[in-house]
Amino acid sequence: MLSTMQDVPLTVTRILSHGMTIHGKSQVTTWTGEPEPQRRSFAEIGRRATQLANALRDELGVVADQRVSTLMWNNAEHVEAYLAIPSTGAVLHTLNLRLPAEQLAWIVAHADDKVVIVNGSLLPMLAPLLPQLPSIEHVVVAGPGDRSLLAGAAPRVHDYEELIAGRPTHYDWPELDERQAAVMCYTSGTTGEPKGVVYSHRSIYLHSMQVNMAESMSLTDNDTTLVVVPQFHVNAWGLPHAAFMSGVSMLMPDRFLQPAPLAEMIERVRPTHAAAVPTIWQALLAEVTANPRDLSSMARVIIGGAACPPSLMAAYDKLGVRLCHAWGMTETSPLGTIAQPPAGLTEEEGWPYRVTQGRFSAGVEARLVGPGGEHLPWDNKSAGELEVRGPWIAGSYYGGRDGETLRPEDKFSEDGWLKTGDVGVISEDGFLTLTDRAKDVIKSGGEWISSVELENVLMAHPDVAEAAVVAVPDEKWGERPLATVVLKDGASADYGSLKDFLATSGIAKWQLPERWTVIAAVPKTSVGKFDKKVIRRQYAEGELDITQL
Ligand code: ADP
Repeated sequence: MLSTMQDVPLTVTRILSHGMTIHGKSQVTTWTGEPEPQRRSFAEIGRRATQLANALRDELGVVADQRVSTLMWNNAEHVEAYLAIPSTGAVLHTLNLRLPAEQLAWIVAHADDKVVIVNGSLLPMLAPLLPQLPSIEHVVVAGPGDRSLLAGAAPRVHDYEELIAGRPTHYDWPELDERQAAVMCYTSGTTGEPKGVVYSHRSIYLHSMQVNMAESMSLTDNDTTLVVVPQFHVNAWGLPHAAFMSGVSMLMPDRFLQPAPLAEMIERVRPTHAAAVPTIWQALLAEVTANPRDLSSMARVIIGGAACPPSLMAAYDKLGVRLCHAWGMTETSPLGTIAQPPAGLTEEEGWPYRVTQGRFSAGVEARLVGPGGEHLPWDNKSAGELEVRGPWIAGSYYGGRDGETLRPEDKFSEDGWLKTGDVGVISEDGFLTLTDRAKDVIKSGGEWISSVELENVLMAHPDVAEAAVVAVPDEKWGERPLATVVLKDGASADYGSLKDFLATSGIAKWQLPERWTVIAAVPKTSVGKFDKKVIRRQYAEGELDITQL
């Protein structure tokens, strides 16, 4: 028997029209480096998005599901692009502005982008790259920047404000199939080549509802979220679409991502919520330790993208800022788990839950798979690879111009689940604890050592600013851990005392690293995660000064 309910497609267009009318007064505040930030209401953002949609169709000739890319910081114009492009039926493709030029050129060609909307401040990067982007027919420049850098460029160049000025504030939005492509995003390639994930209108709509749910990020129109996580990194973790759905005001840092301006904008605008990877929060902590600022407006901060060291969480607790750990991937839109402790616990009882990766969201099914393909129990002990499925989880990758999809065997099970490449355990009540990425785990004499566990303990040492542990080849054991450590300014801990610290913190003797080195900074990926590929290469090429204990 069929239901009697209406079958209304879940689309970004509906998020756009809802946000601009029902939550018209909510605001996007963009940091500009000027005395006053730029402020724009949702009503205005919606009007301008509608004008952008008209311009894309009437002036640039964007039709059907052509790709319109953005090379932009987090700002109001980028939110407009987020809403306008998918609503016309075209596909928004967010480009990671920190990727090396060759990788960007490869991605633009692979996605077959026709248009790029670029921030003026990024023209020094885009202009020399344009000759390698033959698919691009139009460049639209938003915000301040030296337009003369584009003189003689092959594609047509437009100014964003001139392009949208005077265009109609009405658009006959097409009635789209909710399963149609809305946004595409390539994985940042921490452990391999970038792969294209294509989100549907439906997946974005459902994921947005999940983001806002009370047991998830719990966002309403009483909130202002500081969106540090880049809009090119998994749709800023879904925040702009979710915010437009619930009227959550957004504070956008644009290119001012350094700790000092971040601290200033938090103190001045007083966001109630924020989201970023651990390296951002680590750097901000160092900043406010040196130059105290009031961060206490941030009742909830989402930290994810890489494991959050428990010591970092404890340090922010003291500042009145509650870090909430979450796990996800480009392939999972990204929200997969979030670490809100179960009800009825004291702070102390809740702590062990807060340091896990968290509980699975409704809509995300999970299973652990052992080395022989067997399904493992949820007993908080049996470690295996995490596999997930659900309405906002990728089922394949974009295969290129012919539109085919790819399902590499190492990424999808035969029955269609996503193999995350993350290794961990799940408790009986559904809390996930990741011990490592499959590619980062240290396989020593048939046993596994968690690089993340060693890093978390090292980063709790008072002299250690950052620590990354990687597997290096070892004749006897196959692999052993190499500890690379960044000391705090003026600190002088020696390797022996760091090793003792690990031992007295509960790390088993056979897991203690014997190879140590102090480095100036841990190399980071394009989205600010520890880049262990680089450390392994530096080690292999003899570039590190190793002390053997
Ligand atoms: P990339 O794979 O290029 O880093 P993603 O942003 O998609 O790009 O990364 C997803 C991966 O990041 C996950 O598979 C996991 O390994 C890691 N990750 C994300 N959140 C967490 C977390 N809270 N704790 C540990 N690892 C995390």
